[in-house]
Amino acid sequence: MPVPEFCSNPNCPNHTDPPPHWRARFGSYPTKAHGTVRRYRCRICHTTVSDQTESIYYFAKRRVPLRAATACLNSGSSLREIARRYRVSSAAVRNAVLRLGRQAMAAQIIMLAHMDPRTDLVFDGLRSFVTSQDYPCDITTVVDAHSEVILTMAHSIFIRGGTMTVKQKRRLWRKLLVWRPERGSMRRDIQLLVKELWDYLRPRPEGGSIIDTDEHRMYPGAIREYAAGRHYLSGQLVRHRRTPGRAPRTFDNPLFPVNNVDRMLRHRVKEHTRETIAFGRHAVVQMHRAWIFAWDFNMRREYRVKRPEAGVHAEQGVIESSLIRRITREFFRRRLSVRRLAVPATIGRVWEGRLATPPVRWRKGQRGTAVRVPGFARRDLAEGIMQPEEAGLGMVKRSSAAVA
Ligand SMILES: [Zn+2]
Repeated sequence: MPVPEFCSNPNCPNHTDPPPHWRARFGSYPTKAHGTVRRYRCRICHTTVSDQTESIYYFAKRRVPLRAATACLNSGSSLREIARRYRVSSAAVRNAVLRLGRQAMAAQIIMLAHMDPRTDLVFDGLRSFVTSQDYPCDITTVVDAHSEVILTMAHSIFIRGGTMTVKQKRRLWRKLLVWRPERGSMRRDIQLLVKELWDYLRPRPEGGSIIDTDEHRMYPGAIREYAAGRHYLSGQLVRHRRTPGRAPRTFDNPLFPVNNVDRMLRHRVKEHTRETIAFGRHAVVQMHRAWIFAWDFNMRREYRVKRPEAGVHAEQGVIESSLIRRITREFFRRRLSVRRLAVPATIGRVWEGRLATPPVRWRKGQRGTAVRVPGFARRDLAEGIMQPEEAGLGMVKRSSAAVA
């Protein structure tokens, strides 16, 4: 169990920069789930902490083996299969997914805060579904063109199109009466994502930086929405290059980095495999799983399978290897702290469970389901510096973007 490294009282000097011996032993207590837990007391404010305080298992009623569960999740097992294998309830597995997802998002926040700016980016929507094929969604994903690291992701649900039988159409209409994505929500989601992109992109001073996307009709507008984008484009520091989505998905395709992420996601995460019947049942859980995938992809997967000595994706000039090792060492033990780090709004929304999602049992008139975010998880996030969600320039109000 991880010995606490900080006093948990935010007003105490030992909360931020504790000296060695900032705490003293203070007994212990028995627990059902975690065995005997040692307690400590802060020498300044006398707040008591324990080996559970910073643990990844904080407030868990059962210890689902998280390392093994992650391996299962990233090799295409469904939550139900994991529950059966480890003889735990599916609620316990879902709780573990949320825990791991928050940890993966914390790892991402740390990576983004320590990363050098990028010069070329690629982004595109990875198509999937929530609850059923009647609710298609895009996970718009921004990838660094050189290291192929996943930088940010945003989730949006849209209305199903294409050819349908009469029966399918009737069912869709009935469903849309129960729940439909808010008008303009996809445009707002993409704009929020593009707004964050300017935090990561520093064009080369001599020009020639490229943003690669497919021909999605909303991308040019979203890129021009912000002063930074207009400035870079008009000064020809950045070029927006569009490649048809139907172009062959080869290594020479400018969209290769994002096509590769798409391919790996479909390969590894059950709900995104083609022709699956195990749809993601909740947008928030779906994005927690996507972030677990992204953490694994960024920090654990070799950049080139045939050249393992080159290291993982995040080692390709993104962050120091020592930081990756620290994150990896703590990942299944201690909750990674986002203290004083910028929290991108796209991540904040997922962490706080603020994504719109259709009901699973729509025939019963269920209005959508909420994911409960525990108090300690909210406090963990509040240690960071939440970036504003307002897209600026007379656009959306915060209230319309946040639908439970
Ligand atoms: Zn203290």
